[in-house]
Amino acid sequence: MKKIVIIGGGFGGMNLAKNLAGTKGTDVILVDKNNYNYFPPLIYQVASSFIEPSSISYPFRKMFQGKDNVRFYQGSFISIDTKTNEVHTSEGKLSYDYLVFAQGTQPNYFGLSAISEKALPLKNINDALKIRNTILNNMEQACKASDATERKKLMTFVIAGGGPTGVELSGMLSEMNRNIRKKDYPELANDPMHIYLVDAAQTLLGTMSKKSQQETLASLTKLGVKIKLCVAVKDFKDDTVYLSNGEQIVAKTLIWVSGVIANEVKGLPQSAVLKNRRITVNEFNRVTGTDNVFAIGDICFQNTDKAFPNGHPQVAQVAIQQGTLLAKNFKNIVNGKSPKPFRYNDKGSMAIISKYKAVAELPIGFFKGFIAWWLWLVVHILPIAGFKNKIKLVFSWLWNFISNDPTLRLIINPQKHQVLKNMPEVKSIDLEN
Ligand SMILES: Cc1cc2nc3c(=O)[nH]c(=O)nc-3n(C[C@H](O)[C@H](O)[C@H](O)COP(=O)(O)OP(=O)(O)OC[C@H]3O[C@@H](n4cnc5c(N)ncnc54)[C@H](O)[C@@H]3O)c2cc1C
Repeated sequence: MKKIVIIGGGFGGMNLAKNLAGTKGTDVILVDKNNYNYFPPLIYQVASSFIEPSSISYPFRKMFQGKDNVRFYQGSFISIDTKTNEVHTSEGKLSYDYLVFAQGTQPNYFGLSAISEKALPLKNINDALKIRNTILNNMEQACKASDATERKKLMTFVIAGGGPTGVELSGMLSEMNRNIRKKDYPELANDPMHIYLVDAAQTLLGTMSKKSQQETLASLTKLGVKIKLCVAVKDFKDDTVYLSNGEQIVAKTLIWVSGVIANEVKGLPQSAVLKNRRITVNEFNRVTGTDNVFAIGDICFQNTDKAFPNGHPQVAQVAIQQGTLLAKNFKNIVNGKSPKPFRYNDKGSMAIISKYKAVAELPIGFFKGFIAWWLWLVVHILPIAGFKNKIKLVFSWLWNFISNDPTLRLIINPQKHQVLKNMPEVKSIDLEN
């Protein structure tokens, strides 16, 4: 029996564990700090109250029901001891014959401490719910604020990072502004949301083609998103976002989707860890300077693939394909056969801009608008864990896109209600406006 411990059950770790299920001669332990797998490409829809978190998450224990050689262990990885073949977690020690790091990345604040304390990241389900609560709480507070400046501050959302997540979130917020604000919040009929999308680069969607970038810029501008390029967010204090060109945006909320850095792994040889914390691996995803430690997905850096001499992009398909191949390679190792080197099969990239609008760059060509939007829906339904979740998601999308009025705007973690000393008078609503 070879004991294989996998740290992290995201795209890479989950696919590795699934492909090892039922493999004779292996005892697999999947470690994750959460007891569920989730689908990061759709968390911006949770953040904007469009879908429920449970539609894109799935409990590990349910996933591996009846798979006798796979066990789940909830705990947070702390460090590795390569001499004793042990990992230390928040819950205790685990020994291994083979260890696989697949714990992905965390937000990169580039050393901006005020931003790391006050901005809202969007990396996991908890972050998405925090953003959802913040947006809804801000709107509730704005309904009660008698001062126009205060209302504007509450209704201003600055998104730092013009990659797919920033684009998708700003598009979704502008849809909320257009379709929901007046219906749900008649008090805010004359107080629109102000949505800023800021990026230090010259374009949005930096890794996509010029066609996609231009289409996205034009569509978001038309939706009312204020796009600021070639400027970086430098600071966030006293309800003000400071930009590198000297401009200031008065806003209660800064959402940070501006970059990621690999999660830290303590205990590996220094030579195996790059400055950005990515772990260097060979063509079989074996960590530099080790015999039985592997890394897959966002956390690893592999430049042995001829088509990607500067390493692979940190995207879902790389993690999925590396997890799947490593499972095959473990089977080969257990059966005394040679492992196969990793080659990435790039299936393209896409981003949704708003309702019925997306851009898609696929091996079969470039698509935009409605067709790209449909392609995006199909591509994002297929990898969702659980058949019931797929059906649930299709129905929520159909209903929400047609009705323009999803019913998920629940503040699940309400702020404590303060008892005000001077009770303000409740503003009457001018329904004719
Ligand atoms: C908002 C957002 C949108 C994205 N959209 C797209 C997209 O549209 N298309 C695309 O291709 N890619 C997208 N990505 C990138 C994609 O999600 C990643 O490339 C992919 O998830 C990497 O897979 P992974 O297995 O390496 O890590 P992850 O999927 O991040 O999984 C890491 C796992 O490790 C666990 N973990 C972390 N730290 C610890 C610890 N200390 N101890 C135990 N467990 C731990 C986490 O809970 C998680 O389950 C997006 C990412 C984000 C954040």
